[in-house]
Amino acid sequence: MTLRFASLGSGSKGNGTLVASGGHCLLVDCGFTIKETERRMARLGLSPADLSAILVTHEHSDHLSGVAPLARKYGIPVYLTPGTLRARDIGKLPEVRLIEGHQPFAVADIQVTPVAVPHDAREAAQFVFRSRGASLGILTDLGTVTPHVEEHFSGCDALVLEANHDPQMLAQGPYPPSLKRRVGGAYGHLSNQQAAGFLQRVGYEQLQHLVVAHISEKNNTVELARTALADAAGRVANCLFACQQEGFDWLQIDKGD
Ligand SMILES: [Zn+2]
Ligand SMILES: [Zn+2]
Repeated sequence: MTLRFASLGSGSKGNGTLVASGGHCLLVDCGFTIKETERRMARLGLSPADLSAILVTHEHSDHLSGVAPLARKYGIPVYLTPGTLRARDIGKLPEVRLIEGHQPFAVADIQVTPVAVPHDAREAAQFVFRSRGASLGILTDLGTVTPHVEEHFSGCDALVLEANHDPQMLAQGPYPPSLKRRVGGAYGHLSNQQAAGFLQRVGYEQLQHLVVAHISEKNNTVELARTALADAAGRVANCLFACQQEGFDWLQIDKGD
């Protein structure tokens, strides 16, 4: 069985993405309580006891709040950058594996390439996963798409891509001005239009799955994201929109060999 992935939930109230291959499963980020993580994983047919590792993208609560409690309860190693480890008191971890800059590493038979992204965190990294000829990119929580990001996320078989906000809804929405500037700024989050521009530049014809993710519940709607991404959404074999409550169910990448 090649690479498959699923989500416990996606958005500013909590994130968690499962990546599995050959009987091993990783959890990327955990912004949920232990009980909630157990419940959401059970919905996907797994328990946290099945996890080989937890990878952390950055220190914001929607990605980190559940990591240390879950890692302690189940004795799971945690992979993160030195900057993320030191950014705040994240609680005792049973086993820390520091990610070295842009150095790829392996967890079981899953190759992981960390990619630095511009975000208002100490040392944020997003990830590209490869296993048995299949590749998956998870790209959320970035304010700008850099050439470095484009290079690493080109050619993936599946993408989980942030389309956080509609600029007009953000401008007219309930956030205070400082938060509006942060979210819409170069170290904030991708707008629908930035996500669409990224897809146009890196190409999407080869994508088996495009999951639009980290959609703001206050500053965006699925309809607006769908409209902005219509070109890609219409041509990718499977395009779906992750939500805060449900995340999304298992998706499998087929490499036909
Ligand atoms: Zn986030
Ligand atoms: Zn963040």
